[in-house]
Amino acid sequence: MSALPTPRTDAYLAELREEFPRLRVVDKPTHPWSRRIDRVLRALTFGGQAAYVSTYTTVLGSTIYLPASWGERSDEARYITLRHEAVHLRQFRRFGVVGMTLIYGLPLFPVGLALGRAAIEWEAYRETLAAYADVYGLHAARDPALHAHIRLQFTGPAYVFMWPFPRMVQRYIDRAVAALEAQSGDAPTP
Ligand SMILES: [Zn+2]
Repeated sequence: MSALPTPRTDAYLAELREEFPRLRVVDKPTHPWSRRIDRVLRALTFGGQAAYVSTYTTVLGSTIYLPASWGERSDEARYITLRHEAVHLRQFRRFGVVGMTLIYGLPLFPVGLALGRAAIEWEAYRETLAAYADVYGLHAARDPALHAHIRLQFTGPAYVFMWPFPRMVQRYIDRAVAALEAQSGDAPTP
């Protein structure tokens, strides 16, 4: 996919293939359905989510759909994204495609209070924080810029305004970071 060496990503993908023997990895830009979803999301969010194919990685069933910018990303960035997507692969295994579609897809109404989607994504973003801590150290999981990015995923158009309560999202993030700190025995001075 790219000339960049990505040992960490390759090793993790090999692990995922063991955990999910039916795992497929597909490029969104050449995948007709991804392009259709991209158009629907642009319309639904009045152009707010225009990065579905270019930037966002997606899991459906046991397939990971990679965005156009995947090849330009660092090994670390890819690995962290795959840690998040692995949570979705496990959710699909747990709930099945129909169950996940019901939890994730149906509550487009009301747009802006999609509890199922928010719960599904929160489980995965908690893993994103853990992956940042594993790759870069706990300070990376405490980074306010990362927190702002995660808050925006919940409150903004990326997932069609699934949970527009930034302070609540930040409380969840704080709790997740505190749990990571407790795990590593590295609590910050209050
Ligand atoms: Zn996700």
